[in-house]
Amino acid sequence: MNCNKADLLIMKYMDGLISDEEIIKLKEHISVCDKCKEDFMVYNKILDEFSDNSNIINAPSDFEEQVMAKIDFVYSGNTERSINILCFIWGLFSVFAGLGTILIINKEKIIEFISNVPNLSGYLELISKAEIYAEEFKNSFISVVETTFNTCTHYIDSLKYVSLIIFVILIAAQYLIYKKGKVEV
Ligand SMILES: [Zn+2]
Repeated sequence: MNCNKADLLIMKYMDGLISDEEIIKLKEHISVCDKCKEDFMVYNKILDEFSDNSNIINAPSDFEEQVMAKIDFVYSGNTERSINILCFIWGLFSVFAGLGTILIINKEKIIEFISNVPNLSGYLELISKAEIYAEEFKNSFISVVETTFNTCTHYIDSLKYVSLIIFVILIAAQYLIYKKGKVEV
């Protein structure tokens, strides 16, 4: 019997389909062929591992470590993802901030442009209201600052920046609402 035939018999043995006659033939070959003997031992070991119920029922000793390692792996992936999201948000914010500065400079022209776009003109009222609130907030804050610290031009400059940021956020919100509306239509 050659090694190929012996291999087939080993497979049959693994599947439990081997006949008594074939077992004798296989044993004869194994006793003279080291290669097939080694293969048979390896397969037999695998068969033993599978048929040993205790190995299946009881988790391996390093099971917990393996699970923890997997959790760590998944967690680090998520952390990376959330950092990416933060970077994206920051990038978006930077774009809007830069855009906002341009918008502030060309505010009148842009408001004129928006009023010509039917979907956006409704939000113009919102902008002017927000501007009034921002102005009121600014004025009341200024008066507080003035009464507390008399005059402090540095704070007033900061507040101008605050109203600028509010305007930028409003433009961003408008844009998102507009886009959302467009998608739904
Ligand atoms: Zn052989």
